[in-house]
Amino acid sequence: MNNTYINSMRPPICYICGKRFEPSEKVDIIYFKKQDSDIEWEKRMKRERKVEHPPYAEWFCAEHFEAANKLKHLPLHEALKLLKPLGK
Ligand SMILES: [Zn+2]
Repeated sequence: MNNTYINSMRPPICYICGKRFEPSEKVDIIYFKKQDSDIEWEKRMKRERKVEHPPYAEWFCAEHFEAANKLKHLPLHEALKLLKPLGK
């Protein structure tokens, strides 16, 4: 793993509560329904041989994983609209 790879990855912070994960903690990433723009993104990454944080994926802490997991059939932006109020 080189620096370019690390820098291109989003730091693991729960989207809902903003909790930053400790390196020892189990981190969960959820992949939501891909949209056309996400499929385009994947093609571009493949073409450019890059590895970046997928635009349809987000991190969640153990407390919020379940709620987020129930909405993964939705595109990310729609799921996040429903999930964001949970952090308040
Ligand atoms: Zn959380």
